[in-house]
Amino acid sequence: MYFSFVTLFPNLIKGYFDESILKRALEEKIISIDFYNPRDFTADKYKRVDAPIVGGGAGMLMTVQPLTDALKKLKKDSPEAHIVFLSPVAKRFTQNDAKRLAKKEHIVFVSGRYEGIDERVIEVYADEIFSIGDYILTGGELASLVLCDAISRNVEGVLGNSASLDVESFEDKVLEAPSFAKPLEYEGNEVISEFLKGNHSKITDLKRGLSLCKTKYFRPDLYNKGKRYAE
Ligand code: SAM
Repeated sequence: MYFSFVTLFPNLIKGYFDESILKRALEEKIISIDFYNPRDFTADKYKRVDAPIVGGGAGMLMTVQPLTDALKKLKKDSPEAHIVFLSPVAKRFTQNDAKRLAKKEHIVFVSGRYEGIDERVIEVYADEIFSIGDYILTGGELASLVLCDAISRNVEGVLGNSASLDVESFEDKVLEAPSFAKPLEYEGNEVISEFLKGNHSKITDLKRGLSLCKTKYFRPDLYNKGKRYAE
């Protein structure tokens, strides 16, 4: 699977691939990444990529020309590329989106900076637009990485043990049950004793119950949705 990052700050992104699971996925060529910097495409003699907002307003916007030329080059190199813009105004990215997008061959993440991106670029080039939550970041790079990480985990071969995907939160519309590892007792806090008795069907039932309780407590929205789904 191929990821391209359109960003003014590629170094903010590169470091994330220097460690852990995504580093291994890169080394094993399960995923590949590349970068398109709009500054390399600007026709401005001072290499500017931003301009004041037309009609007034605080701050600057990423201008249409450098981004358009970067995306044209990208489309020429890879006509099938699926272009995703990051924006706080868009719909929230979910685990279902991560699983769906993991089936694509090439995803492009376009990160805004300043006060965002000239809307005309988004209208012409966006296949999808996602927010990662109701808050404003200084740029789209963190959001791109959030999507890339969540999508990559669903690409075959990226996780050492893909079975762990099946029981994770959001599968089956519930959160994962509480989990424990050794030691069995730490500073007076013990692992739930039923987990130690080896009765796997009982443990499965118990985990299902705990998972429902946790969902009801932390995410009543998800719990009610799951209930409607089951009816
Ligand atoms: N002026 C914009 C607004 O009020 O909607 C915010 C622009 S923000 C400072 C700059 C860039 O950061 C955006 O273009 C987007 O790419 C990224 N960004 C900020 N918050 C985000 C979020 N919650 N989800 C996804 N991207 C975000």
